[in-house]
Amino acid sequence: MAKILVIEDNEMNRRMVTRRLTKRGYQVITAVDGLAGIEATRTDRPDLILMDLSLPGIDGWETTRRLKANGESRGIPVIALTAHAMAGDRESAVAAGADDYETKPIDLPRLLAKMAALLPRAGKAVPAAAAGGESAAGESAAEA
Ligand code: MN
Repeated sequence: MAKILVIEDNEMNRRMVTRRLTKRGYQVITAVDGLAGIEATRTDRPDLILMDLSLPGIDGWETTRRLKANGESRGIPVIALTAHAMAGDRESAVAAGADDYETKPIDLPRLLAKMAALLPRAGKAVPAAAAGGESAAGESAAEA
């Protein structure tokens, strides 16, 4: 089962992403800030990381830089997430080493597609429930 690490300081977002990805067949672990995320990466070896860019302490850019500077974690795909559709955010996230980028509020089908594109590169299968893009049973379209 593909293991996803969600690094996100906002509890509501953390719980929502966890619930939605779990429903799609992913195993989800979480960290509340960058340093906790680096530690979780070292101890729990996630297959892909969803990185909030706006984090207390070291921000998501610096956290990504540190993960990508370490040979142990360099190969783990990172998708950067930001609430600010700021011009330049994508470029700076990519410059920090992020493999892809998505804006919040999360467009789930689009995020799932980006995850599905990166996971095979990490040698992991995409859960059947996360492939194809159809809505999971009981999931409200208004739930963003
Ligand atoms: Mn944040």
